[in-house]
Amino acid sequence: MNANDIKQLARDLGADLVGIASAKTLNAFPPDPRYPQTPENISPYVKSVIVIACHIPVAGFRAKHNIAVQYLDMLVLRRMDRIAYKIADHLEREGHPSFVTAAQETDWNLKTASYGRLSTRHLGIEAGLGTFGLEVNILSPEFGPRLYLTGILTEIELEADTPMTEQVCIGESCARCLHSCPTDAVLHFGIDKRNCAVEAQEFGYMTATDFFRKYIGASNKEKKEMIKARDLFGFWQGLLRVVGSFGDCPRCLAVCPVGNDYHAYLAEPQKVIPEKTPEKVSKQKSFKEARKNGDEIDGLNDWNIRWVGPEGYQGIVARQLQDFKKAQKEHSEEDA
Ligand code: SF4
Ligand code: SF4
Repeated sequence: MNANDIKQLARDLGADLVGIASAKTLNAFPPDPRYPQTPENISPYVKSVIVIACHIPVAGFRAKHNIAVQYLDMLVLRRMDRIAYKIADHLEREGHPSFVTAAQETDWNLKTASYGRLSTRHLGIEAGLGTFGLEVNILSPEFGPRLYLTGILTEIELEADTPMTEQVCIGESCARCLHSCPTDAVLHFGIDKRNCAVEAQEFGYMTATDFFRKYIGASNKEKKEMIKARDLFGFWQGLLRVVGSFGDCPRCLAVCPVGNDYHAYLAEPQKVIPEKTPEKVSKQKSFKEARKNGDEIDGLNDWNIRWVGPEGYQGIVARQLQDFKKAQKEHSEEDA
């Protein structure tokens, strides 16, 4: 089996995007060298990581409530895990031991935040599927940030893809993700994970432990009230359907103008960002100035620039939009 066979198999099984990263490169470039999320820390035999992505159906981002995306997230993750498992199983039957990583997991020995044994967004970038956005989601040219990724760790040496060097994210002059963020968690090619978790993991682990800590210290009367709290229903729903535990806030995904799905279905409904404030606009301005002045910016330092796109923004979204409009015109002429 070679890299092309594997990619074809992934597409046949339903993956929207597929790329390959070499374990050697991933071991050499951990996202944060202080807490290395590397294949070698999982298995010393892994030689390649096959990265697949499945997009979140765009209809969810046109809905009036976040619930649509929250439920779709779970369905996409389940589907993606099944595809990844089938690829791993196929490889193993061909004589190449392989396994799948959990797309959403946290290793508490690394950091006390959502921080898995591997970072799927970094895997995707190393496999050539996209680059970081201002909010450090991976942005693929095809679907912007509206996707999930997972990795298949395999002992077969496959030809690896190379990371994109062009920055897919429009950057500081766009900052629509920053404008839309309800908790102002978007940093300069970085994220305040705690602030993000307030909206994105409304009923996540920290909310649950907080609730039960308070419950233990509460009086009997307070306990009776707490049993009826909306939080408890949120946890129950989270256990049942995962909804509320992660991926709860779709705002920065919905407004990102990268991707043909955006041009086709989101440009109009997401044009106006109600959460935009003068404070956020002035934060955007400070980002623009910092980049222009060449100030030290953590997210763009010598180590991190690899995942942002060292060539900077070269107009990929404008080119994509032109192609999209051209294709649309051709379709309407054909239909006429
Ligand atoms: S998921 Fe929501 S809260 Fe988190 S950065 Fe994006 S917009 Fe902000
Ligand atoms: S909304 Fe704009 S600034 Fe934010 S990630 Fe997308 S392209 Fe980049």
